[in-house]
Amino acid sequence: MNTFPLFFKLDNQPILIVGGGEVAQRKADLLARAGACITIVATDITHEIQELLAEGIASGRHTLVYEKYDKKWLVGKRIIIAGTDNEALNHQVQADAKALNIPVNVVDTPPLCDFIFPAIVDRNPIVIGISSNGKAPVLARLLRARLETLIPQGYGNLAKLAGQMRADVKSKIPTLTGRRQFWERAFEGRVSELMFAGRDKEAKQALEDSLAETEQQLISSKDKQEVGTTKKTKTSGEVYIVGAGPGDPELLTFKALRLMQQADIVYYDALVSDKVLDLCRRDADKVFVGKKRSNHAVAQQGINELLINAAKTGKRVVRLKGGDPFVYGRGGEEIEALQAAGIAYQVVPGVTAANAAACYSGIPLTHRDHAQSIKFVTSFLKAGAENNNFSSLLNPDETVVFYMGLHALERLITGLIEAGRDPKTPIAIVAQASLPTQQVLTGTLANIVEKQAKANLPTPALLILGKVVSLHETLAWFGTDGKTTDMESEQQAHALNMV
Ligand code: SAH
Repeated sequence: MNTFPLFFKLDNQPILIVGGGEVAQRKADLLARAGACITIVATDITHEIQELLAEGIASGRHTLVYEKYDKKWLVGKRIIIAGTDNEALNHQVQADAKALNIPVNVVDTPPLCDFIFPAIVDRNPIVIGISSNGKAPVLARLLRARLETLIPQGYGNLAKLAGQMRADVKSKIPTLTGRRQFWERAFEGRVSELMFAGRDKEAKQALEDSLAETEQQLISSKDKQEVGTTKKTKTSGEVYIVGAGPGDPELLTFKALRLMQQADIVYYDALVSDKVLDLCRRDADKVFVGKKRSNHAVAQQGINELLINAAKTGKRVVRLKGGDPFVYGRGGEEIEALQAAGIAYQVVPGVTAANAAACYSGIPLTHRDHAQSIKFVTSFLKAGAENNNFSSLLNPDETVVFYMGLHALERLITGLIEAGRDPKTPIAIVAQASLPTQQVLTGTLANIVEKQAKANLPTPALLILGKVVSLHETLAWFGTDGKTTDMESEQQAHALNMV
């Protein structure tokens, strides 16, 4: 470690930037945000800098000096930045600063720098600085981008709330260990989740309730200890109904990933791919509750009970569902049961199969020339049952996506044609959308059954019906050649745990 990360207070501190161009502007922007009083010395100072600092210049906080550099400007400054395009001048500034023992940064010249500007993740009051010690600033910035995605925006507010309550917590929980446990519970549980969901007031209330409860427990356990017993406390857990998307782990949301990584137990469906499951916290229990054709489902009632019981033991429960929990996912029924049992929950949307299949097959669901509306329907064909629903699927300017339709393809197509849909209407089968094994088969209502009999695309698959399907030929982009093959599909489906 050849530089040491310190967090330096610049609020109301005088600092000097020599140079008035783009480089100076970037530093001025950062330092102004840290509350510094900035002096800029340069014969030319850009209009952008004038605008950036206008307010502070008017109030006398910042000063623009349209003069040639002179070392007199260094006096009394906390830090100096040399950011001109004149190398000799930058060196001069560095030497002068050194003589006065003031830390100096010569932009893009690490050997002449006493300090460097890190890549910053700002969740005020939490601040993360990343440095490559001048070796690979782009890498540091890439790392910053990763952290930006992993750290919810609500972190800053969470830290502010903790700051407000710190003294109170200290006075009510006397031991260091007790306080550490209290804060860990707050930051890993409901309080932080509420804050990340933007429910600041409820988060504050939850923290206050938790403090009151802890205080009460301390008092009663003290009383009980006096008569020789101790009391164990139990806090209730929470259930997160999380959409896992169509299979490609990159299509998870940041929120889904974060909750998966802090789960104590995960209940997952058949459509959740192994790759997605691998992203759950390593030591979380992973319980399969899905339906497979050969193996009967854990009945919905049973799943509800599993979720409720796990939450009651204080666990953080993730209910991981393929696609989106509220699109043919029975998420609604699960939260009804949770609500009835008084268990806290959140629902995290996922990329539903229709969206994934559309994007990954190059079939836009709407298009100015072809479709103005979309319908998501499920294969409502129960063997033997009468069906009138086809009459609502005849609009030629509407795209219809059928979930769970492949097994009943023939009856579906016959029904549509009999109801009056033009047999020339294009239709696509998109199997295993977004996965490396994705396959797309296109045809018309008149010939798709025959084509599928030959191609035998595997499940999971959905059907897209409507004029937009004709765009696949030109817009397909995903996969090796965008063409359908009927190769080892079943085999691959098994490898992906998708049948
Ligand atoms: N909640 C899920 C849907 C569950 S119903 C979602 O929002 O996507 C299951 C049906 O979804 C399957 O029968 C199939 O029609 C469709 N499906 C799910 N994942 C799929 C995928 N990767 N490719 C194609 N269809 C998929």
